[in-house]
Amino acid sequence: MARVPDAEIERLKAEVPLGSLAEAAGVVLARTGADLTGRCPFHDDDTPSLVISPDKNLWHCLGACQAGGSVIDWVMRAEGVSFRHAVELLRDGLPAATAGAGPKRSTVRKLAPPVERTAADHELLGQVIDYYHRVLLESPAALGYLARRRIDHPEALEAFRLGFADRTLGLRLPDKRRKDGAELRGRLERLGVFRASGHEHFAGSLVIPVFGEDGAVSEVYGRKVRDDLRAGTPRHLYLPGPHRGVWNLPALAASGEVILAESLIDALTFWCAGFRHVTACYGAGGFTADHERAFEQHGVRRVLIAFDRDGVGDKAARDLAAGLAARGVECFRVEFPAGADANDVAVGSKSPADALGRAIRSAAWMGSGPGPARRRDAPLPEPAPAVPEPGPSPVPFSAADPPPAAVLADAGPAGSPAPVMGGGAGAGVVGRGGVVAVRGAGLAGPGPGQGQLVRVAAGQRHVLGPRRPRRDPVPR
Ligand SMILES: [Zn+2]
Repeated sequence: MARVPDAEIERLKAEVPLGSLAEAAGVVLARTGADLTGRCPFHDDDTPSLVISPDKNLWHCLGACQAGGSVIDWVMRAEGVSFRHAVELLRDGLPAATAGAGPKRSTVRKLAPPVERTAADHELLGQVIDYYHRVLLESPAALGYLARRRIDHPEALEAFRLGFADRTLGLRLPDKRRKDGAELRGRLERLGVFRASGHEHFAGSLVIPVFGEDGAVSEVYGRKVRDDLRAGTPRHLYLPGPHRGVWNLPALAASGEVILAESLIDALTFWCAGFRHVTACYGAGGFTADHERAFEQHGVRRVLIAFDRDGVGDKAARDLAAGLAARGVECFRVEFPAGADANDVAVGSKSPADALGRAIRSAAWMGSGPGPARRRDAPLPEPAPAVPEPGPSPVPFSAADPPPAAVLADAGPAGSPAPVMGGGAGAGVVGRGGVVAVRGAGLAGPGPGQGQLVRVAAGQRHVLGPRRPRRDPVPR
């Protein structure tokens, strides 16, 4: 094995959570103040002697071992391997190639793998996303990244199943030399979760899934959370193959007006600042046939194109606007300061809601002629309610209400979190059965405009739109 650069060793020490490693080894952890404690797997431990400090990502055994250190020291002891070998294992997220060879192997039974061998492919991908999601909620490195990028709204983490690939998935699977382990890894490789090399495709990345109308994962985006990467390491990753699906479909169903961001990070930035009628392209040129179909199907009438304010973004916005206008969709350009994207604006502002709100309200008409009438005094977004509460609807619906913007196939369970709280800059009001009443966008015109009510089912990702046959992810 080639020499591993110090920066990479430091990255592993910071990025792989000791808590996950310990849990993968079957240790049941409890929180004691800022620390995690459990029974040390390296000696016959009756009392919780193992202390893990998640902040420093260090461990220590206060009992017979009197040992401790970083994740590398953990793997050296747990797998009975050398420093270099431990680094290699951590980097690859693989269980030891020398199982059984270690001098003192833990006899504690491993936790069940986070994915099921019997699951269908689309379920398997969903289970990986769920695992990454659980990891993110325990990962200071990933949560710190979200906070720095101002995309740390707690509802967003849940509603969009944000995750973090901390290189521990492979450690949780059956050994690759066992039949079930090899089979599972082969399937995960076909789905794009592992590479042919055995590396986790999204290792070290914030993971943002895209869900189809059937609730299955149609695309996954990964963004490395650290910037001190080896030269040539891509910061942005997707599953192999063409981009499939549209992020935040409920927004399209809820509002005739949609903010179209250039990237998923930018779209999340809007969402976290309270602008919930937002979706994302897969980069400036990444408006796909799936976007086209979804916009048409959900009756999107107005698009606020919020691409990066640079040459590439401006050109892509003009091209896209021409295509959309030909189909009768009104397009406005959200004009950020030169060179900036939506996330830059949020990160550089004390109040992302104010800064992004100003950019939206002053968006420029992209069509010919004077452009449709617009409200420029639209209210800023209200803070979204923390958790939808079941109970009597404060806005009674009746047969006299305008028809919903989209037909809901079925409603999510009452009280489940809402992936979309509103159309436009209006406030969402949570009502009976998890249904959200939404006041429309701050721009006048066709579609669900100012003051008009549309209904949005709160909760499940798969509630919107007419049912289509379930598509299993194609191996790629
Ligand atoms: Zn010990």
